[in-house]
Amino acid sequence: MDDCVFCRIGRGEIPADIVYKDDEVVAFRDINPQGPVHVVIIPVEHIPGIKEAEERHQGLVGKLMLVAARIAQDEGIADGGYRLVVNQGREAGQSVDHLHVHVIGGRAMHWPPG
Ligand code: AMP
Ligand code: ZN
Repeated sequence: MDDCVFCRIGRGEIPADIVYKDDEVVAFRDINPQGPVHVVIIPVEHIPGIKEAEERHQGLVGKLMLVAARIAQDEGIADGGYRLVVNQGREAGQSVDHLHVHVIGGRAMHWPPG
């Protein structure tokens, strides 16, 4: 996807504060952080959202979660607690149509979310 902002970050075409990268996933700090720690994890492959994820993506989707947990550990928020979020679609507030998992922590959070 030529004009997808997260594809462009994945390809290194626009700068990002990358905290983890391998052949399949990239994690970087959110430009508009919602907590002291806010990291976004994306697959390198352009998948518009979890709605479009297919059977073949099972391992990749699992990896997004495991990398999220590892980043939470590395960022020092694992013991205090953190939230993993996937916004899917308009009503959930998805603003970038490239599948991503948010890792947010470092502050107390409320439930239900807004
Ligand atoms: P969502 O609203 O779930 O689609 O999340 C998209 C997130 O991407 C938002 O939290 C944005 O702040 C973040 N974001 C958008 N553009 C960038 C960028 N260039 N670098 C880092 N984070 C970004
Ligand atoms: Zn993309």
